[in-house]
Amino acid sequence: MSPKAKKQADSYEFQAEVRQLLDILTHSLYTHRDVFIRELVSNATDALDKARFKSVKGEELCDPDLDFEINIALDKDKRTFTISDTGVGMTKEELIENIGTIAKSGTSEFVKQLAKGKKDDINLIGRFGVGFYSVFMAGERVEITTKSADKNEPSYIWKSDGQGSFEIAPGPKDAKRGTTINVFLRKDAEEFAEKYQVQNAIEKYSNFIPFPIKLDGEQINKVSAIWREPKSNIKEEQYNEFYKFIAHQQDDALTWMHLSADAPIQFHALLFVPKTNLELLGFEAHDDGISLFVRRVMVDSHDSEILPKYLRFVRGVLESDDLPLNISRETLQENPHMFKIKSTVVSKFLSHLQDVAKNEPDTYNEFWKQHGRIFKEGYNDYTNKDKVADLLRFNSSKCTDKDELISLETYVDRMKEKQEEIYYLSGPDRDALESNPNMEIFKAKDIEVLYCYDPIDEFALPGLFDYKGKKIISADQVDVSKLDKIPGEKKEDKKQKKAKKEDKVLDNLARRIKDILGDKVEDVKLSERLVDSPAVLVGQAGMSSQMEKIMQIYNQDAKPKPKIMEINKSHPLILNLADIYEKDVNDPVLTKAVNNLFNSVLLIDGTILDPHQMASGIQDTVAEMVNLYLHEEETPQEEEKKEEK
Ligand code: ADP
Ligand code: MG
Repeated sequence: MSPKAKKQADSYEFQAEVRQLLDILTHSLYTHRDVFIRELVSNATDALDKARFKSVKGEELCDPDLDFEINIALDKDKRTFTISDTGVGMTKEELIENIGTIAKSGTSEFVKQLAKGKKDDINLIGRFGVGFYSVFMAGERVEITTKSADKNEPSYIWKSDGQGSFEIAPGPKDAKRGTTINVFLRKDAEEFAEKYQVQNAIEKYSNFIPFPIKLDGEQINKVSAIWREPKSNIKEEQYNEFYKFIAHQQDDALTWMHLSADAPIQFHALLFVPKTNLELLGFEAHDDGISLFVRRVMVDSHDSEILPKYLRFVRGVLESDDLPLNISRETLQENPHMFKIKSTVVSKFLSHLQDVAKNEPDTYNEFWKQHGRIFKEGYNDYTNKDKVADLLRFNSSKCTDKDELISLETYVDRMKEKQEEIYYLSGPDRDALESNPNMEIFKAKDIEVLYCYDPIDEFALPGLFDYKGKKIISADQVDVSKLDKIPGEKKEDKKQKKAKKEDKVLDNLARRIKDILGDKVEDVKLSERLVDSPAVLVGQAGMSSQMEKIMQIYNQDAKPKPKIMEINKSHPLILNLADIYEKDVNDPVLTKAVNNLFNSVLLIDGTILDPHQMASGIQDTVAEMVNLYLHEEETPQEEEKKEEK
């Protein structure tokens, strides 16, 4: 910097890096030119904050009677945009140092990015400590009049056309504390002398600024930084009004959490749960609905990944004064303060939901209906596993209808004596699960089974692995010997006494059925779990039927693993098959019946692969049945006669 001697004004060259930045800003047309308003408001806010801080500390400020506020004045005829604040102002040295030099790291990186022509990047300018220069996107000439809060300092006028140099001259003697920035708008930026344009920009970026912003004398920022205030000061309506504003919603919020912490890290968080889940209505998923504020300036809206993905329906504000203002999304992730804030906020928010579940069950049910599907993705939040598990809800075999929901805690509380595991079964709906043969033994023993209708449950539950030390097992993979230990008479026991066949015959029948079905089944066994159905497919430890279906959706070639078919040794159909088997092992009716039976269990299992083959099997059977019915009345003689013809 080389001051050229002049009487009135001193002229200075901008630093090379600033020149480069200015060159880009003045020669490109950006779509987000209104960010300059945000940047100027943000700087004014910083200056006001510093002044307020000094006064709070008891330091002397000049013009102590001035209100802390921001004024914007527009003049269409003169094509000017003027913003003034009553903040700390700047001395001559500060002017030179702060506006004209780039001392912050990362700036040259930003300039390079901009030079590459990524126009949206201009939005990030505030993060790189060069926000002020964005004024040259709109202004062909800028004048700053500033008077330091130090009463011994005179005022100065800084002028530049953004072309490479600036000059500083003494300012008016009667200037009051603070800074006024007069932007002489370019012809193509005259819209920024329009009230509605400026008002829009302020509502978009700066509505929560905790100082009044007056536009041509009228205060336009109505929403204050309520998250910084003590809870007891804020009424329900205020929370809702604020929520509607930030979330662009018509409805009130379903529930919210307002949290302030001082130690070890200072932050404020105000998080809202919307009444409806927009993602389920087909709207695009937000990555993050949280706006991040640092010292009352919004540094990031909606993409700072403050909350984990499974809480992406939450809307709100987080503010911490312990974070640097020029934080970027990347540095945010690495910032150790941010890390601690994030984990505290998530854990507290889950606790808040637990409170809602306990104290306002209707609200919680509504929450679950709207957001449960997304929330379930939280099964992989290992740090908060217990809290997430507590918050999960399921329909179950003991619920009175498909809408009743229970928690894992309720399930465990009413587990049967000697029951060691938690059981669930997946299927498309309650009716399908109620009639699933895998349920028979559970019903007979009066053991509760969680009903899962949502494919994500297939990942969520095995993902949790256990709850309160109880393993979570799919009912189609249960080891029946575990159920045998649980007291309660199986209805089956009575029925089994009626079974006429010796086990040896039935064992042989099972082996014959395996021969007939070949590779389609892993094995055929006599069942200990069936009561009413003739047969069922059971999986081995590993994937449940539903999980296999999901895998097939993702990978068409993934053929389901063959399963074990269990047959009910007291079911009349099986007993009849055993009769046929005893007469003729190779009877074609046996083969046909076994194939049809197998198809029917596949159908119930939901894993049928070849519907055509199955349909023709059914049609053959129907044809035979009709034929049988038509000839039932005929006497054996008549049939003989027919054959003779
Ligand atoms: P940043 O705000 O990130 O520091 P800017 O380019 O926006 O970067 O501003 C540069 C510096 O200029 C500020 O840090 C501040 O010291 C000074 N400044 C800008 N506007 C004002 C103002 N209205 N009052 C006092 N100082 C200001
Ligand atoms: Mg700034």
